[in-house]
Amino acid sequence: MNRLLKRSFILIAVILAFTAGILLYYFSLAVNGGKWATYPANKHIYSDGILIKAGDITDRNGTLLAYTENEKRLYNKDADIRKATVHTVGDLNGFVASGMHSAYLKELCGYDTVNGVYNLSGRGNNIELTLDSKLCVTAYKALGSYSGTVGVYNYKTGELVCVASTPTFDPASDTKENAKGVYVNRLLSGVYAPGSIFKLVTALSALENIKDPYELEFSCKHGVTIAGEWLSCLGNHGKIGLDNALVHSCNAFFAQTALRLDRRKLTATAEKVGFNKTLKMDGIICSESRYEVSSSNDIDFGWSGIGQHNDLVNPFQYLTFMGAIANGGKCVEPYVINKITSPNGIAIKKANPSTKTLMDPDNAKALTEMMRNNVKQNYGDWRFSGLEVCGKTGTAEVGDNATPHSWFVGFCKNPEIPYAFTVIVENAGAGNGAATKIAATVLKKAQSLK
Ligand SMILES: [Zn+2]
Repeated sequence: MNRLLKRSFILIAVILAFTAGILLYYFSLAVNGGKWATYPANKHIYSDGILIKAGDITDRNGTLLAYTENEKRLYNKDADIRKATVHTVGDLNGFVASGMHSAYLKELCGYDTVNGVYNLSGRGNNIELTLDSKLCVTAYKALGSYSGTVGVYNYKTGELVCVASTPTFDPASDTKENAKGVYVNRLLSGVYAPGSIFKLVTALSALENIKDPYELEFSCKHGVTIAGEWLSCLGNHGKIGLDNALVHSCNAFFAQTALRLDRRKLTATAEKVGFNKTLKMDGIICSESRYEVSSSNDIDFGWSGIGQHNDLVNPFQYLTFMGAIANGGKCVEPYVINKITSPNGIAIKKANPSTKTLMDPDNAKALTEMMRNNVKQNYGDWRFSGLEVCGKTGTAEVGDNATPHSWFVGFCKNPEIPYAFTVIVENAGAGNGAATKIAATVLKKAQSLK
């Protein structure tokens, strides 16, 4: 009897161990299966470590950006389209970490936990992007020999229609060119000193926290002394209020506004619009915009209110901020994947962007008016005819002897062309120069493609 009992226990122990092993196996498969199946040693989808079997990647108009033919992975035949879209499409070696060939490799190869790599015929799932490849080419050409990025998205729907990042490379021919960070998508992964585009955050914080923000007045005499140190301004603006301060981009006004607000309030506004947070685009992690003044002295805090000191901005984060102002305070989160479909046309993933409130509608309206006025008075409305552009330039100092970076951020108020944009051009001088010119070229093209 005892022996029988002992055997029963052993049998139960064996069954339990077996069950635990099976559970562990399925757990590991669920967690790591995609990684294992898309590992370059998998001969079903790789040849000599190069991806050969994956679905199509198309733009919003059905233009083929990458596809598989006769066990070869191919790109669009036009070199300009290849170079203009490679930071979103990605490359076969996976050097562009945020590209579809890396971030969505599992989906492209048709992997799923139940069936594994089930389409051994050579066709994975197809990815349809929201990008307009023609618009990407316009932006890439407009950036010319400069390094920088252009991002444009529909602030009503969240669709990213243009992502261009330079320097770039041709995924069909260049395989080992990593000079100047060609593999980096500067829209998602770049961070830059913001310069005067940060004044929009300080202005918003004044609107949110100061009882009569339009009564606020400070004096500028080519700058202002803060805690015994000089903070310079390009103009001699005299007594100046919020409205005019943004039009004239007065450093003295915004530095003193920061001090009036205090570190806590300005930080709270910055964080509400996306600073010190990890943003994602279609699950792809972006670099963080940073605003950190907790231990800064007064003069440094003053500089931080006008986008200097240690402020850093990620272009994608600012794109979402611009989209929120344009859309009455609510940001529809930008995305680049419209849908993923199986080879037989079944939708596996469809875009479903969430919406976040970044500011009150009244404050969004007030910023819109200021930014619209900016374009009319400073940048030349004629350059953006019919678009009703609202914007702010920035000139980001990058060291004593280097030419500053040129920023232009904003959106079209015209509801027929509901686009928000960020443009940064590295070492190109004042914002109202290279960046506004590139924005005008890209937005006009966007208007013609509508
Ligand atoms: Zn001034």
